[in-house]
Amino acid sequence: MSSVLANIFARLPVAFTHGQGVWLWDTEGRRYLDALSGIGVSSLGHNHPRLVSAIAEQAAKVLHVSNIYQIPQQEALARRITELSGMQEVSFSSSGSEANETAIKLARLYGHKNGNTHAHIVTMESSWHGRTLATLAATGSAKAREGFEPMPTGFIQVAFNSIDAIVRAAEAEPRVNTVMLETLQGEGGIRPAEIDYLKAVRKLCDERGWLLIIDEVQSGIGRTGKWFAHQWADIKPDVMTLAKGLGGGVPIGATVMAGRAAGVFTPGSHGTTFGGNPLVCHAALTVLQTLADDKLLDNAHNVGNHLQAQLAQALAGTAGVVEVRGRGLMIGVELDRPCPAIPKLALDAGLLINVTRERTVRLLPPLTLQRGEADEIVARLVPVIQGFLAGG
Ligand SMILES: *Cc1c(COP(=O)(O)O)cnc(C)c1O
Repeated sequence: MSSVLANIFARLPVAFTHGQGVWLWDTEGRRYLDALSGIGVSSLGHNHPRLVSAIAEQAAKVLHVSNIYQIPQQEALARRITELSGMQEVSFSSSGSEANETAIKLARLYGHKNGNTHAHIVTMESSWHGRTLATLAATGSAKAREGFEPMPTGFIQVAFNSIDAIVRAAEAEPRVNTVMLETLQGEGGIRPAEIDYLKAVRKLCDERGWLLIIDEVQSGIGRTGKWFAHQWADIKPDVMTLAKGLGGGVPIGATVMAGRAAGVFTPGSHGTTFGGNPLVCHAALTVLQTLADDKLLDNAHNVGNHLQAQLAQALAGTAGVVEVRGRGLMIGVELDRPCPAIPKLALDAGLLINVTRERTVRLLPPLTLQRGEADEIVARLVPVIQGFLAGG
């Protein structure tokens, strides 16, 4: 393998040359069913004609200009995001980590503007918010932080799905001004926040004047069958972060603000060179239009339910399978043991998936997935899981 790349990723021995819909082809001409979408990014699948021509069109006009000028594509995309979310304003960036970093900076600025110059953010155990220092400090994984200390301070991790844990944290640290969570933990093993819990967190934040930051980087943009997974709980965050599926493959992040969180940033208080350039915004707007025009949220809901039910049925009674869970096309199969070998076994079976939190097989297929393709995922994945459990 290459020695010119930093040794950061344990890569599988495959390189893809092109794709079409939910399929990818490797350098040997072998075809794979992509049930991972590059970790929830390629939501329209590969080589989607509308997205490809939108990117080509914009590339031929102008790629990048700088945020010191007006960018109409950025305004159009921000307007669409505010319509879909019922929120007020958007700041663009280039990744999920950066979108969350912006949200964290906003929580601190909000603190400063309200007489709390050492704001603390309550985040959740087993959460995932990114790899920059502040988002690592927010992330509920001691392992991801290891070796990178000293960490930025001002973060308190508490048990997920426990309103009491948040209340207790704020009793011990009166400078808490923000709660940050995922509505459906992705890297944390496809773990959903309970609806009642989300409503209670919203209420608590309102009572105390805190900000509620909801990280929808993985669960947003239609993946669960609604535009944003928190809409299943009928609540609205003060700050929402987006990335992965938003650009359909071009790198874009967004931090969306409403109510108390709107108007906190002012000129000079934050910035980005790449964030929201004409290319990525035009691409993302095309993704949002295509999701709506092709009714892909309903598709994610329906085909996702079908896929989850078929998986649960095919794996029922298999010793070692703990649970099949998820929402829409964000699905996890939790096993009773670590399963690091499964992605390679699946690759050999012509299927792309991965494993989170050591023992949960994760599926994030394109939102264009059809029923027959979902059945093909089941046909390929079930023998892989059963073979692994029987052998290991
Ligand atoms: C992937 C992810 C991030 C980090 O996004 P990057 O683009 O890798 O920086 C943050 N939050 C959640 C919930 C994620 O799934």
